[in-house]
Amino acid sequence: MTKMQHDDDFKFPTQHQPEPGLQSKMSPQPDDGSTTYAGCNRLRGKKVLITGADSGIGRAVAIAYANEGADLVLNYLPEEESDAQDVRRIIESLGRKVELVPGDLKDEAFNTELVKQTVLSLGKIDTLVLVAGKQQANTDITTISTGQMIDTYTTNVFSLIWLVREALEYMPNGSSIITTNSIQAEDPSAYLIDYAGTKAAIKNTTFGLAKQLAQRGIRVNSVAPGPIWTPLQVAGGQLAENIPTFGKDTPLGRAGQPSEVAGAYVFLASDEASYITATSINVTGGLI
Ligand code: NAD
Ligand code: MG
Repeated sequence: MTKMQHDDDFKFPTQHQPEPGLQSKMSPQPDDGSTTYAGCNRLRGKKVLITGADSGIGRAVAIAYANEGADLVLNYLPEEESDAQDVRRIIESLGRKVELVPGDLKDEAFNTELVKQTVLSLGKIDTLVLVAGKQQANTDITTISTGQMIDTYTTNVFSLIWLVREALEYMPNGSSIITTNSIQAEDPSAYLIDYAGTKAAIKNTTFGLAKQLAQRGIRVNSVAPGPIWTPLQVAGGQLAENIPTFGKDTPLGRAGQPSEVAGAYVFLASDEASYITATSINVTGGLI
């Protein structure tokens, strides 16, 4: 999909998918940067693990990183295999190495296994990119299920700590961690009570980890997207009635595309960001 400039008449078609949603079934297709991203070896030879890499923001990050010369292990849920195979084909066509490791980050033991598989494949981890996330809209706190709360916090917050804990041993001096928070961390929507809290926790944890890991030479930063056109939004993350006008309330007047978020992750992983830690970059179309 081409990036729209201000177009007051544009509306996304109404659509809904069950969680976690497939990018291949979205209309219009999000822009993952596969036909547009021009790399210049900014991540040459870096060994990278990316979660949530089959679709949306994580997929655009994977494609950008491959274009910048990184070798990748990609995680996603088993139900998303077809999206992940699309990403594999794109990355292999760029001549880069990629390994797919599906699995559920809500399972503590799988987090350990994912790091083990990554190190078997890549030997070490220069960049740990945590993009996976769960978001389900709910307008009434009296109807939020305990299951949804536990799954949202486990996916978004616990797995961050589990993965960092397991990966540290394999992360050399000079490596970096990038987490994904949200505009919701600072400006929570009324219908994202549990999700918004996890994003605030991620941002806070990122800054604390940055202080703790600085002495090991590991930088820790985050990216805070605003409204981005991804499966998460059409698979219950957004209220159905908000889909057509999704992103219209930003100063830029439109939703962002995943390809427009990837550059922030590239920068934070690159050696150009060697003096940057404990930072969150907003990619929000102007929302403050
Ligand atoms: P997405 O649906 O494409 O990506 C989310 C991914 O999370 C899924 O593809 C899935 O692979 C992964 N995931 C979810 N639960 C998992 C689990 N239990 N185990 C393993 N993987 C799991 O949507 P996206 O919008 O690209 O989301 C990526 C990140 O961006 C999320 O952390 C989300 O909170 C964040 N974010 C998105 C927006 C937005 O507007 N799209 C805004 C702010 C933040
Ligand atoms: Mg997905």
